[in-house]
Amino acid sequence: MHRAIVLNKNDEGVIASVQSLTDADLPEGDVTVQVAYSTLNYKDGLAITGKAPVVKQYPMVPGVDFSGTVESSDHPDFKPGDAVILNGWGVGEGHPGGMSQKARVKGEWLVPLPSVLTPRRAMAVGTAGYTAMLCMLALVRQGVTPDKGDVLVTGANGGVGSVAVALLAGRGFNVVASTGRIEEAGHLKALGASEVIHRDELSGPGKPLGKTRWAAAVDTVGSQTLANVLSTTQYGGSVAACGLAQGMDLPTTVAPFILRGVNLLGVDSVYVPMERRVEAWDCIATELDTDKLESMTTEVGLDEVIPLAEKILSGQVRGRTVVDVNR
Ligand code: NAP
Repeated sequence: MHRAIVLNKNDEGVIASVQSLTDADLPEGDVTVQVAYSTLNYKDGLAITGKAPVVKQYPMVPGVDFSGTVESSDHPDFKPGDAVILNGWGVGEGHPGGMSQKARVKGEWLVPLPSVLTPRRAMAVGTAGYTAMLCMLALVRQGVTPDKGDVLVTGANGGVGSVAVALLAGRGFNVVASTGRIEEAGHLKALGASEVIHRDELSGPGKPLGKTRWAAAVDTVGSQTLANVLSTTQYGGSVAACGLAQGMDLPTTVAPFILRGVNLLGVDSVYVPMERRVEAWDCIATELDTDKLESMTTEVGLDEVIPLAEKILSGQVRGRTVVDVNR
């Protein structure tokens, strides 16, 4: 038997509970993993509360990522005892996910755990931190360098935002952190932000073009905030957009693109090709400061996840939440 969070749906909505399952409940797949850690990401909050149609079928085990040890494998690249990470590929959405002591997946979805990462540290990073790295790499590929000017991070106290602040500062960028939790300014500065601004500066209606402020940005918020970020990005600057914490809409005009050559870079973490995943995890392993990561990480057990799901959606969870599924 193994314990897992199970989501079911009825006329009232989604019901989440911790249940005991057997191997017969595991889905198809060629690698079975003893999960060590999962994490709570924004998308997991949407799945557990049912606030957005993230889950494709019920019952479902949520958890878009996990780390653990291979228990059995019919895949040529993995053998029992191998340490692995999984994030994305629709796991926790259409295929049972990581909020479980056991998972069965396709071997081609797994990334070997980089040797300098522990399973816990990999999940302290999790999908959120790995997405922050994908955003930074997208900006760097676009030619953004520290001498070009300030780099803005929106939703800076969230999981993606906190890691983005630390990663960008680690590469020498001058980071401006935008947050609704201005009382956490000291924490954001300790992660490497040079300046902390209130998100209200960016979240209301704005002009098609404003005074330029940023060379680049990592936006986790979308909606009016992203529109304002675009209209205040300098000539030729780039914005990596990965989130929708304020909303899915984008009330902008073409002005930033056709008058300032601003680049809007879409970042998806779920179906990124394997080479990009390995590159991102390798960069995380070497670049992300262990003490900074620990300072933004909270650990919980499986039983504590369900009440936290509402909290992450209302922006009340700071940084990263690691789930020890065996606690
Ligand atoms: P999170 O920890 O909840 O962080 C989101 C942050 O956004 C909050 O902490 C808050 O930061 C800010 N925020 C919340 N509500 C807001 C509002 N109404 N207006 C403005 N800001 C608001 O979530 P996460 O796991 O970091 O994910 C962040 C976003 O990225 C989510 O939308 C998630 O779906 C998306 N995401 C996308 C991918 C992908 O593949 N593209 C991967 C991972 C995550 P402050 O308290 O600092 O204001």
